[in-house]
Amino acid sequence: MVDQASATRILTFAPAVPIPDYLVGEVQSKLAYVDEAIENAQVTASGDRIELKLRQPANADRQAELQEKVQRVVISMAKGAFKPKIQVLEDHLDRPVPYHKDPMQELTSHGEISQEANGIFSLGPMLTRLIDYFESRFLELADSFGAAPYRFPTLIPAKYLERVNYFHAFPHSLTFATHLREDLDAIDHFAQNAACDEHGLNSPPESFAQVQALLSPAVCYHLYFSLADRPLPGGQIAATAVGNCFRYEAINLVSLERLWNFTMREIIFVGPKDYVLENREQGRQRMERILEEIGLAYRVESANDPFFIGEFRKQAAFQSAFQLKFEIRARLPFRDSTLAVGSYNYHQDFFGRSLNITLPDGSAAHTGCVAFGLERMAFAFLAQYGLNAENWPASVRDASGG
Ligand code: AMP
Ligand code: ZN
Repeated sequence: MVDQASATRILTFAPAVPIPDYLVGEVQSKLAYVDEAIENAQVTASGDRIELKLRQPANADRQAELQEKVQRVVISMAKGAFKPKIQVLEDHLDRPVPYHKDPMQELTSHGEISQEANGIFSLGPMLTRLIDYFESRFLELADSFGAAPYRFPTLIPAKYLERVNYFHAFPHSLTFATHLREDLDAIDHFAQNAACDEHGLNSPPESFAQVQALLSPAVCYHLYFSLADRPLPGGQIAATAVGNCFRYEAINLVSLERLWNFTMREIIFVGPKDYVLENREQGRQRMERILEEIGLAYRVESANDPFFIGEFRKQAAFQSAFQLKFEIRARLPFRDSTLAVGSYNYHQDFFGRSLNITLPDGSAAHTGCVAFGLERMAFAFLAQYGLNAENWPASVRDASGG
């Protein structure tokens, strides 16, 4: 029975262990996955209070249950955590930029974005031309390495992701693909009765076949899978591809910043350790000149992937210790914060070992990639320069027809 006197939609409480400032964002983003009852979750900047806004009032028992689930996340991520040493490779954050507003409203009123659902956006002509321009610069970078072009599918087999431990590391953001079972009655029933309510499609789960494929969360995995279980042809490979990527980010899916369905351009290196590390570094240095021409205010700094709570502490520390990931973080002047628009990654021989990709000497191949989020590049650029092309750097204006 709901005790109406104590039922509430707002729950505020202290974390079970203090959340250090450098973990506030990571913990907050994981609170989105704690319970479907949560509409919004905030951790104060100082990390000493958590506030949950619920979709419906919850009684005392339910409140206790929600708190317990939140504390599990907090303890798992923050207890015994130590501050990673942030390494800054480039700092152009103070590059002067003319615009200081959130571009979302203007993008909507100009018909440049149309939101189909949370995290699912259509983009209009100006955004598309801008992205095409950024793409031309990324392709120029790919060409400078002689990277061969590839096209990869949007679906990815479950057995492949299992092989690279993806289910363990990033279960929260997976998107599953299925279809109706090959069963005349199930298909007929669906055809006659399928309808959407506010929660989605009303079809019973047993209408759908067991999941064999997912929507791909990254581009470079497809290259590694295509190279699996054999010697690496030629001993080294540079490749490039653009593709749709899917990462379910629950209630964090607001604005063009965080999408369920986004597009990534990657330049991928497979070969000996030195080959991969040298090319990753070359990629960063060549990109620095391109980003200067684009006029982006940004910083390149060490980072970690958004591992799920159980894996987070160990894996994030590992990435940090071995300098495996650096992010291009563009300034968002309207919020006085930064947004990752790209990353420089080195996976050591993780994929080479998991997928049995061998070098001529029999050892496992190393891999690395340079990855750009196309929608985020456009969003960050417009957050710094606005929609009026007259205020854009000449190189961007002329080439994108702005
Ligand atoms: P990552 O492989 O996680 O470093 O991702 C590469 C790039 O993809 C990031 O730097 C972002 O620009 C972009 N990206 C990743 N996740 C999202 C998302 N949920 N929405 C939009 N862009 C994303
Ligand atoms: Zn990659």
